[in-house]
Amino acid sequence: MKTRVVIKVGSLAVTDEKGGVSVTKIKAIVQELQRLKEKGFSPILVSSGAINSGRSLIQRPEEKKMMISFQQAAAAVGQPLLMKSYVDALHAHNAHCAQILVTHEDFKERKRFLNIRNTINQLIDNNILPIVNENDTVSYEEITVGDNDQLAVMITEATDAEKLILLTVADGLFNKNPKDPDAVRFDVVDFKDDFSGVKFAAKTTVGRGGMDTKLKAVRKLTPNGVDVIIGTFLTENPLLRLLEGQGGTLFKGNPEKQKSRRKSWLSTIVKNDAWVVVDEGCSEAMKKATTSLLPVGIKKVYGMFKRGDVIQVKHKNKIIAVGISEFDYREMELIKGKKSSEITDLIENAHSKVAIHKDNLLIKSDQ
Ligand code: GLU
Repeated sequence: MKTRVVIKVGSLAVTDEKGGVSVTKIKAIVQELQRLKEKGFSPILVSSGAINSGRSLIQRPEEKKMMISFQQAAAAVGQPLLMKSYVDALHAHNAHCAQILVTHEDFKERKRFLNIRNTINQLIDNNILPIVNENDTVSYEEITVGDNDQLAVMITEATDAEKLILLTVADGLFNKNPKDPDAVRFDVVDFKDDFSGVKFAAKTTVGRGGMDTKLKAVRKLTPNGVDVIIGTFLTENPLLRLLEGQGGTLFKGNPEKQKSRRKSWLSTIVKNDAWVVVDEGCSEAMKKATTSLLPVGIKKVYGMFKRGDVIQVKHKNKIIAVGISEFDYREMELIKGKKSSEITDLIENAHSKVAIHKDNLLIKSDQ
């Protein structure tokens, strides 16, 4: 199993200080991502840089209140330029990427959240690099994620990634402003530490984050078992260097949760009154390996559930698994006992060929 890692690159890691995409920086990132894949990692990229890539093409407003629409227009023109550079850089490695633009709303609404998760899973299964950014053009105050550090947190959570790397100017967390010659970098920080008393360096003028937003990201993820690494992109092979523990700060995830992160989450939200009963063959197959639950193995459907609900999987009155249903109970009733290839004839716009995807399935024996 590959280690899923979310990597967030800030605006200055992919663009020039004076604006515009930096093809050289993007080529270097892409090259390193390819090496990461060879080393058994499965990367998901959260890339800033749309606004900075497009800002020279949009006239800067004099009035401050026009700044938001300026940034939105700059992002609209900059995002495709940014993606073009990623596409070209990956092309040199015979590889492909996909663009995923989201807002905060998309994570709050369960169906949209599942669509993000499923799409990213599909892309990874197809060896395509998912590249995520905020959809700045439609984002306004109420629905904006705010900064891409928080977006990276949501993507880490949505994709069950084990690690998050936040690439930035500073090489991790220091006990005082890193420009101070006496500043000392923290190598490893335990998930219980609250890093109070640490003074942060000022944020860069490009991009929305800063060390403060990065530490907020750390606080959200490490208690759930995710390791977060903060380190500089201003060096050769910054990602491999950080993953090998040379530089940067590693914020260690809670080891208790690391083992059973997904499990604990699924078991806490399972519906008590919704389940499917599976046949002997399906039950045996599920015990042997973590495979998706196919409709052909389902004999009965109980209770009322929606697509996205966590339901139980039973055999001989015993719960053998729980997982996120890809269909609602009416649809499940229609496809039970049927081959996956028949689903599209039975359900209009079916978005899945499995009843519960293996990534969303917790087998009881692993509990
Ligand atoms: N979405 C913004 C962009 O692509 C970046 C936001 C951030 O840096 O946090 O320019």
